[in-house]
Amino acid sequence: MKRVLVSGGGGFLGSHLCERLLKEGNEVLCVDNFFTGNRRNIHHLLDDKNFELLRHDVTHPLYVEVDEIYNLACPASPIHYQFDPVQTTKTSVIGAMNMLGLAKRLKIKILQASTSEVYGDPEVHPQPESYRGNVNTLGPRACYDEGKRCAETLFFDYHRQHGVDIKVMRIFNTYGPRMHPNDGRVVSNFIVQALKGQDITIYGDGKQTRSFCYVDDNIEGMYRLMNSRDGFTGPVNIGNPGEFTMLELANLVLELTESKSKLVFMPLPQDDPMQRKPVIDLAKKELGWEPTVPLREGLVKTIDYFRQII
Ligand code: NAD
Ligand code: UDP
Ligand code: UDP
Repeated sequence: MKRVLVSGGGGFLGSHLCERLLKEGNEVLCVDNFFTGNRRNIHHLLDDKNFELLRHDVTHPLYVEVDEIYNLACPASPIHYQFDPVQTTKTSVIGAMNMLGLAKRLKIKILQASTSEVYGDPEVHPQPESYRGNVNTLGPRACYDEGKRCAETLFFDYHRQHGVDIKVMRIFNTYGPRMHPNDGRVVSNFIVQALKGQDITIYGDGKQTRSFCYVDDNIEGMYRLMNSRDGFTGPVNIGNPGEFTMLELANLVLELTESKSKLVFMPLPQDDPMQRKPVIDLAKKELGWEPTVPLREGLVKTIDYFRQII
């Protein structure tokens, strides 16, 4: 039995990962400061004798004994990561350093939840892992994008300099049950607005695109990456190549919720990427992974979840 540390385990993806790891017969140490996470996400795991919760901020050193680390701690939605941008960069950079220091001391494997945001507002479409990105270092999204880019740098330097066994995953927009209803991300916003009969807020003209991956597919990719062949470090894109405009997403949500909400157009936030779509050839080849849940099907499950909690 392995003891696995999940930083950010109280969040949306982290809580699904904790569940999966327990199902696979591991002990899980969930480390979270509950900045954006919620105890409710992991409430059902607290009675499991193999689950342990530690309230801790990863910007501080952590001395524990574990066999593997998944580093997910970091606010992921623009409204949250821009609320305290300095703390966001600290969480990504100092948090990564502490988790890597832990991995180095214990000589264990560590996976980083990186992001498609390392590609910024991409000039290459779709985005392969070899694309180096187009991030505005000075803009309001930079605390997140550059923090994650620096974390990737630290991962590769700990690997080269100290021989740490690393796995780097570039996650594209992921959605599903346990997204925070006030998260500000587009899928949760549109669903909550549609269910409450409120206006659907389209930023800009709604022609910008994103590729949405259902949470179960994401967790499968993450688990496979952690257990991929020795020496495979990534970075590897994990996302669903289905590409949709925000207008298409809004109309699909309206159809599936049978809502009469109206679309309203609001200003496009600064540096909002115009398009995003992963190339997933590497994930297919190395992990035998590809997404299995189409957007329509994943939205139905997510809508069911939001109906219960709002
Ligand atoms: P989330 O906000 O639900 O989860 C992040 C968790 O990290 C929360 O529980 C939060 O409380 C915790 N956290 C934040 N700062 C911390 C700190 N200093 N110390 C300890 N815990 C801290 O977001 P999520 O969608 O579950 O994202 C998880 C990871 O995946 C993040 O690293 C995010 O950058 C990455 N990611 C997510 C997506 C996505 O679409 N969901 C896309 C790309 C990357
Ligand atoms: N660290 C940690 N837990 C450990 C080992 C290290 O939190 O079990 C932290 C440590 O405090 C340091 C960081 O990880 O700030 C990086 O560790 P490393 O050994 O690379 O750096 P050093 O201690 O040599 O500065
Ligand atoms: N968006 C929108 N309405 C909303 C929330 C977001 O039109 O209520 C847009 C946003 O401008 C962006 C896209 O949806 O173009 C995805 O936004 P999200 O914050 O979910 O993710 P990210 O921009 O980080 O990919």
